[in-house]
Amino acid sequence: MARTISYITGSELLSLKERANVAIVDVRDEERSYDGHIAGSLHFASDSFVDKIPSLVQAAKGKDTLVFHCALSQVRGPKCARRFADYLAQGKNDAGIKSIMILERGYNGWEASGNPVCRCSGPTCTGSLGAKRNIPILTKPYVGLKSSTLNLTKKCVIM
Ligand SMILES: [Zn+2]
Repeated sequence: MARTISYITGSELLSLKERANVAIVDVRDEERSYDGHIAGSLHFASDSFVDKIPSLVQAAKGKDTLVFHCALSQVRGPKCARRFADYLAQGKNDAGIKSIMILERGYNGWEASGNPVCRCSGPTCTGSLGAKRNIPILTKPYVGLKSSTLNLTKKCVIM
C-alpha cells in the first residue's frame, strides 16, 4: 500500500499547523544550526535519515500528517519523504500516518515569505507555531504605540 506524497505551500502549512496532528520534519544537514528553522519542527538530517526512520516514527507518534522539507525541497526533502513512504509501505510500522507531504520551496521559501522562524539551539526545538506565537515580537511595537498615544493626549490637552 503505497502512500502518495503531495506538496503543500507555506501558507497552507501555517493553517494546517493549527491542528495538533501535523509534524514538520526538517531534513537539512548542518544548515539548520545556523539558518534557523520552522518552530516545532523535528530534525532528521538527510545524511543519516534512513537509519533514523524508526526514531522518526517514534517522534511523530500521534501525528497523522508529516511535512518534509530541506532548504529548497528539491532534492533531500522529496528523497527523504519517499524513503519514509517506502518504509511505511513495507508495513513494519504503520504508526497511523495518513499523509506525507513536502513543503514547497523548502525552508528558504518559507523564510523568504516572511513566515515565522525559530532560532533556538539544542537538539529539540522548544518553539511552537500557531496558537503560542510569542511575546518578543510584540515588545517593540507596543512601546511605540504607547508613546504615540501619549503625544496624542498632549495635543488634545493643548487644543
Ligand atoms: Zn526552535
